[in-house]
Amino acid sequence: MNTLKLPDGTPVPALGQGTWNMGDDPSKRRSEIEALQRGMDLGLTLIDTAEMYGDGASEELVGEAIQGRRGEVFVVSKAYPQNAGKKSLPQACERSLKRLGTDCLDLYLLHWRGNVPLAETVEAMEALKGAGKIRHWGVSNLDVDDMEELLDAGGQGCATNQVLYNLTRRGPEFDLLPFLAQHRIPAMAYSPVEQGRLQRHAGLAEVARRHGVNQIQVALTWVLRREGVIAIPKAGSRAHVEENAAALELVLTERDLAELDQAFPPPKQKRSLEMI
Ligand code: NAP
Repeated sequence: MNTLKLPDGTPVPALGQGTWNMGDDPSKRRSEIEALQRGMDLGLTLIDTAEMYGDGASEELVGEAIQGRRGEVFVVSKAYPQNAGKKSLPQACERSLKRLGTDCLDLYLLHWRGNVPLAETVEAMEALKGAGKIRHWGVSNLDVDDMEELLDAGGQGCATNQVLYNLTRRGPEFDLLPFLAQHRIPAMAYSPVEQGRLQRHAGLAEVARRHGVNQIQVALTWVLRREGVIAIPKAGSRAHVEENAAALELVLTERDLAELDQAFPPPKQKRSLEMI
């Protein structure tokens, strides 16, 4: 498994697993748990969830999937912005811990920026760390100006910024990814396969055909080609998670990358960070 390091040196797998919408449909539960466990077997041991997903249903499903295997997994969850205050964050964290069936989160993120001052969230995150409730903290959906403000507000402990990044959302390449790299903060790419839509995008077809792989695998390898980027695709079946894990074997050539640049041009100027 390719790994990269958080700012404090903690290794994490470059390819993890997302869980948005998991736990919503009882008829899919078995397949979703099986997919997550198969992913763990294959080394995709970073699992991303959030209190928002299914109103806690995703955290509960993850809790079930990792039961008896907690030590193998790097669990990431996220707090709503309205829960990111001094009093509300510890309460939200306790609820997430309970649903996940664990006593400590590996990484806890502010899901997006709201009305709570960043300095207060930093203080609340550091307090949770001091109390042993979380091992690392980070943010999500923060563009460069917010990241600058975060660092100025004492947020040097920020371990990641989880942002929308894939072939059709290349805006962060212009300034956010270089900013994060400069501060040695890994980026975590969410919706790395554009919620499945890249499976049918004509711009990937030729590269996939040449390598004898599917388009999702090309899209994932493309995200992972960049140093300091973690990808967290969501796969609801064993077959999909196996395909995604196999993307780690794929090596894109200069020709592939040039063709992908033609089909999905890199940004020439600042684009505001997009959110899904
Ligand atoms: P995504 O991972 O880009 O795409 C998921 C979709 O792709 C699902 O429909 C899945 O289908 C399909 N898929 C996955 N592997 C496939 C394969 N090998 N072949 C064909 N289809 C495949 O989208 P996402 O779920 O939005 O993003 C990933 C994770 O990022 C989320 O689950 C969540 O944990 C996180 N996220 C965070 C934020 C944020 O604001 N921080 C926002 C969005 C997402 P199946 O389910 O049928 O496998």
